[in-house]
Amino acid sequence: MRFVDEFRDPELGRVLATEILAAVEPGRHYKFMEVCGGHTHSIYKYGIDDLLPANVELVHGPGCPVCVIPMGRVDDGIALAREPGVTLACFGDMLRVPGADGTLLDAKAQGADVRMVYSPLDALRIAKQEPDREVVFFAIGFETTAPSTALTLRRARAEGVRNFSCFCNHVTIVPPLRALMDSPDLRLDGFLGPGHVATVVGARPFEFIPRSYGRPVVISGFEPVDVLQSVLMILRQLDEGRCEVENQYRRVVPHEGNLKALEVMAEVFALRPHFEWRGLGFISQSGLRLSDDYADLDAERRFPVPGVRVADPKACQCGEVLKGVIKPWECKVFGTACTPERPIGTCMVSSEGACAAYYNYGRFARERELV
Ligand code: SF4
Repeated sequence: MRFVDEFRDPELGRVLATEILAAVEPGRHYKFMEVCGGHTHSIYKYGIDDLLPANVELVHGPGCPVCVIPMGRVDDGIALAREPGVTLACFGDMLRVPGADGTLLDAKAQGADVRMVYSPLDALRIAKQEPDREVVFFAIGFETTAPSTALTLRRARAEGVRNFSCFCNHVTIVPPLRALMDSPDLRLDGFLGPGHVATVVGARPFEFIPRSYGRPVVISGFEPVDVLQSVLMILRQLDEGRCEVENQYRRVVPHEGNLKALEVMAEVFALRPHFEWRGLGFISQSGLRLSDDYADLDAERRFPVPGVRVADPKACQCGEVLKGVIKPWECKVFGTACTPERPIGTCMVSSEGACAAYYNYGRFARERELV
């Protein structure tokens, strides 16, 4: 197949759904986690879960970059934006993420110079156009977006742009997956592996899941046919007693990853000893900071950053959603006090967030009979 329409072909989807139905064992309940927020979005946009047998349950993992940012880091971003002479540049979704002291949008309304950008290069462009401002880029995301931040910092260095720095909140996907697998309150039968992250890191980093935890992984694309085929591939592994990492998204994901992207990341970033994740707490070696070679471009070393840890609001159950322990509609404030217009938690902010996907596609509850 060559064109995106072919990956959205309803007839092919129905054929795969029939094969999935034939592959499940009646009476057995299967629970698969899709790690990427992009998968969650596709599943509800295209109604993929309605094509699955009732005993195949998809739960949503911690792969939405905005959702995992803890409140304390939002407050740190706001503090940076309020520094005299600073322009804080960030992606649109981050503007609406609540910290303890409001959002970046609130800070902007109160006079802070906060600007929405579509890429780190946009932030660098602002720095070059306005040399009297200190431009800080609020970097978020997994290994998918970290290379573009790294390349931008490399370019800032090469071009001698001195009024540009990065507030680094990049995270890595393997440590939270390991934490989830070690969690006693979660039983999973397999994973739809994160196709976007795997584009950069390849398939190899996920081999610990079958090796250490005995669960199959299928790196999956994002179109409906991709997701259905990936579910079928996991079921076939289980049926045949196999347990390995398979790559359904081979048209994009090379087994070894993108070596050039990995190389620039290794040059620009270093692992933090630990990093806080919303709802998951501190996870060892799960966050990136700027390497010592790039210390002069590190906003956390250039400006005072409070670094205060802030507890999530009591009503917020984003942690349970991010761990796949509850479905979004099971959160007490889903669709009432917490909506995309007035989010309480991060999972309602980004379109990749599970709560936003459920809300936007009208999934207020889902009950089906087991086959
Ligand atoms: S409904 Fe809101 S508060 Fe509840 S889990 Fe979702 S985003 Fe968090």
